[in-house]
Amino acid sequence: MTVTQVDLSSLYDSNIYFVDGGGKTLLVDTGTGFSPEPSINSIRKLLNGRKLDYLVLTHRHFDHVGGMARIIREFSPGRILIGEGDAGPLREGDSEATMGTIFGGKIERTDVEGLKEGDVIDLDGWTLTVIETPGHTVGSICLYGAERKALFTGDLFFMNGVGNTTDPTGDPGALRESLRKLEGYDIVCLYPGHGPYLVRDGYQQLRGAMRMMGA
Ligand SMILES: [Zn+2]
Repeated sequence: MTVTQVDLSSLYDSNIYFVDGGGKTLLVDTGTGFSPEPSINSIRKLLNGRKLDYLVLTHRHFDHVGGMARIIREFSPGRILIGEGDAGPLREGDSEATMGTIFGGKIERTDVEGLKEGDVIDLDGWTLTVIETPGHTVGSICLYGAERKALFTGDLFFMNGVGNTTDPTGDPGALRESLRKLEGYDIVCLYPGHGPYLVRDGYQQLRGAMRMMGA
């Protein structure tokens, strides 16, 4: 399995990760979709003629999902997935609840499937397991790849930082609980929704986030 960071287009974009599981391909998050050509070209190169099997969104916020309409049109992902608690605003095309309005963008109604704790995404030789980690939003999820001890955190925590809990459905108590929940995982590689990713010492970053939140 390889994880590659897709080129970003806008200063506000979340990170976009292309996961090549050998047999199947998966994209984590989409950025804002503002002037998306660099991201689209980067994804096209990484796919290299293969189809995109999965698009997984770590949570509802526009900087992570705003680019999905274009990506869906361009690559027709086999399945489009988000934590069940954050699925409603995408199904309804709710530009307020996704904070699209604040970013100056719009969300189209999108038919997404809801993910739940313990769901397994099969990449044909590699798997990612869904961990429900509310706090930044009510439906935020992490994805854990045991084979590489890799954790995709969305906006739960970053290198030297923790996601905010001040937007609608944010909850600092829930975020603390979510961090504690991850303590039992062996985390080496860390792929956060913003800032740099790490291929070592992921667990130390979790401990740092816990300290910041008093968890
Ligand atoms: Zn966010």
